[in-house]
Amino acid sequence: MSEARLLLHACCAPCSLEPVRHLRLEGLDPTICWTNPNIQPESERIRRLDELRRWCAAEDIELIEASDNLDAWERGVAPLGATDRVRRCRACYGLRLSELCSVAEARGFTHVATTLAVSPYQLFEVSNELLERLACAHGLTPVIRDWRPWYGEATARSRALGMYRQRYCGCRFSAAEAALDRARIRDERRNNHRVRSVFAL
Ligand code: SF4
Repeated sequence: MSEARLLLHACCAPCSLEPVRHLRLEGLDPTICWTNPNIQPESERIRRLDELRRWCAAEDIELIEASDNLDAWERGVAPLGATDRVRRCRACYGLRLSELCSVAEARGFTHVATTLAVSPYQLFEVSNELLERLACAHGLTPVIRDWRPWYGEATARSRALGMYRQRYCGCRFSAAEAALDRARIRDERRNNHRVRSVFAL
């Protein structure tokens, strides 16, 4: 293992599987940091955190539970609401990655990374840009990787492990957006089925 001390922000257990595997292959041995005040409702936040606790304990990974500043999220992110997803997610990443970097600096870590870089549903460039800027401001080295090609692997592995897998990013806006997407896909499938049935007559 290298001398680097890496603190990895984890949004949930399923999204941690592939980043941790790849970082270990690189000789980095991450400590995981939980800071996700974006996850709503409270029962969902606890459920995701509990799953991460279980997996970290099973894998013998140190888990730091940093601040979940719900008030800061409501003040700084929620007002951006459903109208501008990019600005909303930028503010949300900024809050979480800023806490990650503060904790990393205070505890003597040298490097920081985030599991947001495994999900094709996240804004990859925005997250990288913020991680880079915040890490530099705290005297840390950002570990920028693209783990998105392994998202399918993460999905399969987390299913095989029986992990809890959420159906939306985290906030109430994303829950509503995901529900709308599912309804749209369901309607499209129904319409396609109807068209096929008409042609089969
Ligand atoms: S969609 Fe996800 S990243 Fe964006 S604001 Fe909501 S919880 Fe945060």
